[in-house]
Amino acid sequence: MRIVIGGMNHESNTLNPIITGEDDFVVFRGAEMLERGMLPYYSSTGIIETLRAAGCEIVPTLLARAVPNGVVSAALYARLKAELLRRAREALAAGPVDGVCLALHGSMKVEGLGCAEGDLLTAVREVLPGVPLTVALDMHATITGEMLACADGLVGYKTAPHVDCRETGAHAARMLLTALRTGKKLRTAAASVPVLIAGEKSESEAEPMRSLIADCRAAEGKGGVLAASYLLGFPWADDEHDAVTALVTTLDDAQAAEAAAARLAEGFWARRKDFVFRSEHYDSRRSMEVAYEAVLRGGQRPVFVSDSGDNPTAGSTGDSTDLLERILETMAAAGSLPTPILYSGFYDAAATAACLAAGPGARIRIEVGGVWDKVNGKRIPLEVEVLKTLRGFGPYKSDLALVGHRCLRIVLTSKHIGFGDEELLPALGVEARDYCLVVVKLGYLEPCFRSIAARAIMATSKGCSNEVLESIPFRKVPRPLYPLDPDMEYRP
Ligand SMILES: [Zn+2]
Repeated sequence: MRIVIGGMNHESNTLNPIITGEDDFVVFRGAEMLERGMLPYYSSTGIIETLRAAGCEIVPTLLARAVPNGVVSAALYARLKAELLRRAREALAAGPVDGVCLALHGSMKVEGLGCAEGDLLTAVREVLPGVPLTVALDMHATITGEMLACADGLVGYKTAPHVDCRETGAHAARMLLTALRTGKKLRTAAASVPVLIAGEKSESEAEPMRSLIADCRAAEGKGGVLAASYLLGFPWADDEHDAVTALVTTLDDAQAAEAAAARLAEGFWARRKDFVFRSEHYDSRRSMEVAYEAVLRGGQRPVFVSDSGDNPTAGSTGDSTDLLERILETMAAAGSLPTPILYSGFYDAAATAACLAAGPGARIRIEVGGVWDKVNGKRIPLEVEVLKTLRGFGPYKSDLALVGHRCLRIVLTSKHIGFGDEELLPALGVEARDYCLVVVKLGYLEPCFRSIAARAIMATSKGCSNEVLESIPFRKVPRPLYPLDPDMEYRP
């Protein structure tokens, strides 16, 4: 069997003014997808492994991925889409294609276009009509009618933080293989639930997601259901499609798909009020006060404070200074801690470049923050000592700098990357466990931090991934929408 594969993965935060462009993407073209592109946390890796194991001939087109950020450049998207389609056409010209399996996010937005996945799937369908097409999606996918019209089978991640990306890719590939082996059609039904959920209320290890995901797993394998998923949508995109979707794919049983999707939608709606922050949380100022106390009086270390309102892995700018300003206002308390405070970190290309130019040991004056987020961030002048620099870190080739300012150690990046990457701090010679207080621009802690945190405090700080959705001035989301309209009625 000859299967065309490809992928585009971006979670676009429409509150963030950055236009995600060429430099922000890592692109694997053709055979590169099968080699360098086989990263363990990519859903495409699971697709490739599964198709390989089944003896399929894999025809790779293109895999483009970027860290969540502002909407994607229209020109860049047009180029990536054209290349993916050209490679799909070439595949078809070289011989018959039996199926298509794609790794998509589901909440990628493009300048002037809006939802990208529906547009991309429509175009792929024009090139490859009539063959089974399955898609692996992020849990935060926003499902549109276009997507449903073009894809036969869809499945989303079942974990948040997302640790089952590879398994989800494998799941999408297995559905495709099932359709091909049986010659039967995949049938997908979607039931929309008018709910918007803050990212940090939906950890899959906590209720209600734990039970809801268990319901999805229980539905799978019964009555011809191949996949059952909750796609939560993306709360920091102001879009007319925003909603939670219960999505079920069956093997040729449209009725069973409808019934299961409706059941899951009902189940979700019934639990809507149970979505609350599981972690200890306060506003920025209070978070720091509680953290100082935890270290000084409670002897807890390391205490983690998540600067959740400016989480680049949720597409925020990474340069809101709300929490930094609160720390700078409390430097007396900060200075009495047994170690410096580690702050990871800030996306600031100019500040990072200045540090790299000056080199370790130099004392320089830089400005940090407020390049992009001018609402919640301002340029903050700091006298710093450059402690360590590094060029070209990670797949996005970001330069890094570690600087010291009084009792603060601040990580700076030249690229918009996430601060949950477990290799980031070690690359700078830093171990989070050596600090009594670690502030990180992240929401729920990634496993590498959670495993060492004596205490985790979430600051509901201000930024483009503001967790308090009720305070975001949405204009396009469909209303009524829970929890913006807390007393709304709805019958699935
Ligand atoms: Zn996600």
